[in-house]
Amino acid sequence: MNILVINAGSSTLKCQLVDANKKASLMKALAEHIGSPDAVLTISGHKQISIKNASIDTALEHILEYLNDGQDSPIHSLSDINASGHRIVSGGEYFTESVLVDEEVIRKVDLCSELAPLHNPNAVICIRACQKLFPRIPQALVFDTTFHHTMPPKAYMYPLPMRYYTDYAIRRYGAHGTSHRYAAQQAANLIGRRITDLGIITCHLGNGGSIAAVSNGKSVDTTMGFTPLEGLMMGTRSGSIDPAIVTYIMRKENLSYKQMDDVLNRQSGLLGISGISSDMRTIIDAAHQGNKNAELAIDMYAYAVQKAIGAYFAVLNRVDAVVMTAGIGENSAELREIIFDRLAHLGMILDRQKNNMTSDLGSDRIVSIDDSPIKICIVTTDEELRIARETAALIESLNK
Ligand code: AMP
Repeated sequence: MNILVINAGSSTLKCQLVDANKKASLMKALAEHIGSPDAVLTISGHKQISIKNASIDTALEHILEYLNDGQDSPIHSLSDINASGHRIVSGGEYFTESVLVDEEVIRKVDLCSELAPLHNPNAVICIRACQKLFPRIPQALVFDTTFHHTMPPKAYMYPLPMRYYTDYAIRRYGAHGTSHRYAAQQAANLIGRRITDLGIITCHLGNGGSIAAVSNGKSVDTTMGFTPLEGLMMGTRSGSIDPAIVTYIMRKENLSYKQMDDVLNRQSGLLGISGISSDMRTIIDAAHQGNKNAELAIDMYAYAVQKAIGAYFAVLNRVDAVVMTAGIGENSAELREIIFDRLAHLGMILDRQKNNMTSDLGSDRIVSIDDSPIKICIVTTDEELRIARETAALIESLNK
């Protein structure tokens, strides 16, 4: 079964064609800087195509064109694709598991756009594009939020008047669920124990970032909230700030709700503090050159991660492992060192040599010292592969 996995980000589109039977990736495509003159499409890591100013659906069409006609396409034509699986950032209270697409499902995903304004609208555009381009193949939706449905009310409720929950379903939903679920399971595998016996803190540190407390395999709390804006400082998102700042700035600068939303979602975080980039690699390079704002951005980022790990250390009855995953978590030995140097007193003791080892980069591993009371693990997240597996499982269960 060939599954086209579509992961629509705020300004990126990741697509992967996966042979679900062989659990093998046949093609990976990454469109970056969508909507800007620098928009570029990279296919299977090497072929680069400029897609200047392309919108997300045009970027998807370019990928499909390549799959249909490309000289080195792994399939003969689009009819070799059996299903598509979409990553959906927010399913709100509507979805507690993965589903197949129908009009009612799309309507609800669209309704959840308010909860994930950078992501859900782009996902709906991609779902519609697939309906047009492959009207006959099933489309599955895999939600970032469903893993966090096990959170207790004390973790998901906000201390606001109750009617905001009953009238508008304002509560914590969390995100990156597929990644947290997988990271926790892989950590249990690395430790060689059953996940149902463990307390694990999973840190998804990419362009977006969130941390989850996972008790016996179930998410009991997470830093992202009603929307993916809450929690850690991120690439362009502020994460948690005093809510009074929002109304204060709006008044001071006479900003509309939309303008303020843009400040918080697109102009803040690493970009806002460093003033140069939302990309951690660029910021690390600048800090090495002595850029003080870049140094501050790194210091603040690490501090936000440190505080969240500390909070979940307190929340869980036991902590056996902390897992680092996604772009920064997996790849930046420097950030891991800064973060865990500040957490050694909690029994999370990094082995600097293992942390810096590049020989087995890309493989899941433990990077704490052998007798660290809490293991520090690195797990490479492959969200698209996870989505393909869930899509295949959903379709198979419906065919039974
Ligand atoms: P993701 O959203 O998971 O693709 O992660 C993107 C983030 O990971 C960006 O901020 C990148 O700069 C960061 N990243 C990727 N590779 C590295 C690396 N080797 N060192 C530091 N940050 C990295």
